[in-house]
Amino acid sequence: MADMVGPRLYSCCNCRNQIALHDDIISKSFQGRNGMAFLFSHAMNIMVGPKEDRQLMTGLHTVADVYCCDCREKSKIVKENW
Ligand SMILES: [Zn+2]
Repeated sequence: MADMVGPRLYSCCNCRNQIALHDDIISKSFQGRNGMAFLFSHAMNIMVGPKEDRQLMTGLHTVADVYCCDCREKSKIVKENW
């Protein structure tokens, strides 16, 4: 899970580790493996899970679940690897 903590920043809801910038968001209604997620082009302070290819409206994308590198909380942020 991730909370928006300001107009431009998302952080881990567990430890407030900053993990993504609003400017890097691709989609706020991405369908992740476990429900709705945010899709970002970049994220920071995270560990990246296994990559998988997903067919989206805009074509085939390679995405990965991300985890907070501090508390290991699974984030609802999904990272796209170009
Ligand atoms: Zn955390």
